[in-house]
Amino acid sequence: MKRICWAVLLALLVGCGGKGKGGGSSQAAKLESGLNTDEKPTEIQFLHPDLLPINFHVAEDFSEEEVDAIMAAKNSWQAIDTLGIKFFDKNILIDENIDEDDDQSYKDMTVGIYLRKSWENHFSNALAVTIYDRQVFYRIDGKKRKKIVSPAILNPDILLNYYNYKFTTDPVNVGNDLQSVLVHEMGHLLGLQHIESTKKTVMYPTYSSGQILRKPQEIDSRHLYYSYEAYLEFLRAYDYVISGNQKGIVTHGTELPEGFHFGEIENVAIYLMKDGTCVHKVNGKVVKVER
Ligand SMILES: [Zn+2]
Repeated sequence: MKRICWAVLLALLVGCGGKGKGGGSSQAAKLESGLNTDEKPTEIQFLHPDLLPINFHVAEDFSEEEVDAIMAAKNSWQAIDTLGIKFFDKNILIDENIDEDDDQSYKDMTVGIYLRKSWENHFSNALAVTIYDRQVFYRIDGKKRKKIVSPAILNPDILLNYYNYKFTTDPVNVGNDLQSVLVHEMGHLLGLQHIESTKKTVMYPTYSSGQILRKPQEIDSRHLYYSYEAYLEFLRAYDYVISGNQKGIVTHGTELPEGFHFGEIENVAIYLMKDGTCVHKVNGKVVKVER
């Protein structure tokens, strides 16, 4: 009955004994019982508009079944109609794997899913990590107070720890289910935080080995909606213009309105640890540990 923390990372958790299923049949049914349907995310983050729609670069080292799991995870997020925004390209790009012991390797504008066979710069007992930069935008109000508008995510990558763990795609012999892990990690990549008010969410902070939860649930789509409602406000505030919404085509200007400023860029990494802890690092320092 151990729990594992998924944090951005994946979670998986090896060695976590089973905690039961989490419920196969109740998928959508009783979802909201006892839930405050007005619940909103406590922190709003969204992808930088320049990244959308994401064209994932997927390491060529993944097997065909693993690539299918990646596609399915991506498609399950895209299947939610969130304000007409196109988050992902229909296709992915199979690309060279990045497997360097270089913790700066994520800093390119490609959004990658990599299979790491070395893991020196990360916690060894993390199943995966979603790593990205974050830039806060703020505005100075009339009284010269800084008002944070929202942080936008830059340079995100998902790294899977194949050095220490194995992942499975078989729906029967389930170990660390790759698709379940990826759906969670992609939620972080889209800007979502953990959701603890219900277990009917792919963003629950813990995960048990053997568990399958491969599709975003109703509360996940709601959190995505609130995050990207803010994103649209952000675009308007910065004089970005959205056009061709259904096609997900976003065009925008580059000028910030008066009073708006860019903040420092910070690096964020969320680790899912084998002992069930989630560790959040900002600029290399541990800022939060969730159990
Ligand atoms: Zn997580």
